[in-house]
Amino acid sequence: MVDHADGRDPPRSRRPDPHDERRLDRSVRLLAVLSDTPRRPRAALLGGSFDPVHLGHLHLAREALGRLALTEVRFLPAYVPPHKRDRALLPIDDRLLLLDAALRDEPAFVVDPREARRGRACYTFDTLTELRAELGSEAEVMFLIGGDSLRDLPKWYRAPDLVRTFTLVTVPRDPDVDVERLLAPVRLKFPADLVEKLRRFVLPVEPLPVSSTEIRARVRDGRPIDDLVPAAVARLIEERGYYA
Ligand code: ATP
Repeated sequence: MVDHADGRDPPRSRRPDPHDERRLDRSVRLLAVLSDTPRRPRAALLGGSFDPVHLGHLHLAREALGRLALTEVRFLPAYVPPHKRDRALLPIDDRLLLLDAALRDEPAFVVDPREARRGRACYTFDTLTELRAELGSEAEVMFLIGGDSLRDLPKWYRAPDLVRTFTLVTVPRDPDVDVERLLAPVRLKFPADLVEKLRRFVLPVEPLPVSSTEIRARVRDGRPIDDLVPAAVARLIEERGYYA
C-alpha cells in the first residue's frame, strides 16, 4: 500500500467494488495477524452512551467478536459530564438494566459499568490499563472506535502510548471507506509504526440502520421499536415508561 509520507492528501479513490483487490488484501492481512496469535484472553471494549442499547450495537459486537477472534466484548457505557450533555440521558442504572437484558443470552458479551459508576470523566488509557491488570498481563486489550474518532485521537491523553500499548480498532460505518483518507489526521501526528498499527486494525462494518436517537423518537411518538432492539429491551422500555 502507498505510504503518503509527504503529508499530501492521498488521491480520492474510485468507489471500490466488493471484489476490489485492496479490500481483499486488507481483510486477508487482518486475519493473518490474528490467526498467528496464540489463544489468550483478547477483549475489546465498545464505548457508547447506550441510551438505549440496540441491535446495531449487537451487530457491531458480533462482527468484532468473529472477525477479531475475541474472547469477549465489553460494553462500556461512558460517563458523560452534565455540561457535555445535549439532552437528559436515561439514568445510568436504567441504561445498565437495559444492557443486562440485551446481553443476557450472549455469553461473550459483558457489561462494564466502571466508567459510568465512577461519576467522572475517565481517560481511555487508564481504563484499558486497569482492564489489562484485571485480565492478566497475557491479555490483549482492544478498544473499538468509530471512524470519526481518528480525527481527535492525536489529542487524547497519552495517545501514542495508547496506540502502542493497546490495539485500537477503527470501525468505520462505511464498508467502502477509503482507509488512506481515514488515516490522514493520524499520519500527520504519529510515527509511521503507529500509523501502520492503526491501519492494520481498520475493520469496516456494514452498519444496520439503527440508532438510539431513532428509538427514542419512535417511543416518544408511540411507534413500535421491536425491529430495533432485542425483545427483552422493548419489553422493559414499555413496562418502565422509558423515553415516553
Ligand atoms: P445516538 O443515536 O444517541 O447518538 P448511537 O445509536 O450512535 O446513539 P452510541 O451508544 O453512541 O449509539 O454508540 C456506541 C458505539 O456503537 C459507537 O461506536 C457507534 O459508532 C456504534 N454504533 C451505533 N449504532 C451503530 C450501528 N447501527 N451499526 C454499527 N455501529 C453502531
